[in-house]
Amino acid sequence: MLEGAGGNIGVLTGPDGTVLIDDQFAALSAKIKTALKTINEQAVKFVINTHYHEDHTSGNENFGTDGAVIVAQENSRKRMSVDQVMELFKSTQKAAPPAALPKITFKESVTLHLNGQTLDVFHVNNAHTDGDVIINFKALNIFHAGDVFVRYGLPFIDVDHGGTIDGMISANKLLIAMLNDSSVIIPGHGDLAKKKDVEDFVKMMQIIRDRVYKGMASGKTLEQINATDPTKEFKEGMERKVFVKLVYDSLKEKVSKT
Ligand SMILES: [Zn+2]
Repeated sequence: MLEGAGGNIGVLTGPDGTVLIDDQFAALSAKIKTALKTINEQAVKFVINTHYHEDHTSGNENFGTDGAVIVAQENSRKRMSVDQVMELFKSTQKAAPPAALPKITFKESVTLHLNGQTLDVFHVNNAHTDGDVIINFKALNIFHAGDVFVRYGLPFIDVDHGGTIDGMISANKLLIAMLNDSSVIIPGHGDLAKKKDVEDFVKMMQIIRDRVYKGMASGKTLEQINATDPTKEFKEGMERKVFVKLVYDSLKEKVSKT
């Protein structure tokens, strides 16, 4: 795993070439290449994007131009192809140039076989975005979860672009079902993790989700729910009120159905 200014990069090297999981910001590509050279001289053959966000994909153009084949879930490619307005951050992620776009896309899953390893790449629905994947390095019992699992506290859920709290919870539950006590999980951001860390992350999201849902079902407004401080015992990552709004917005449809 390589750490830097953006999302964690997973690296698999060997005689068949290097595979990167995510590639951070374009300005860091040279540094990443130098770091990779200390591990292995092989060129980067594949880049797998865990989702479309620029702190995970902006190196695509540099690696793509060098000949790497970029792989992503089809919704991520769609999002990278056009400008994405990030209202929450008052910013816009610009459409990526052709060289930066994934050349291979898939709906549900794809498997890579190289360097004596099998990498299962599978889509989890409407979690952090609408195009998230988790990568399972099968023989190594290592997983890269992208931003479906992060360690900075209350997580960002990109509700404007298909993310939902319930999708975050179910994706992490799916991941947990594949883990044992020796599994290593590379989070989208933060230190390497163990099964217990993912379990704690799910528990936190479930508790907050249930509090917000209960408030909504009893007719409370977002302001009234925030007044009960539903995230109180948990570490702030996203600002508390912003996180509660993301949970609230992603549950609206469910509450109106009941
Ligand atoms: Zn992200």
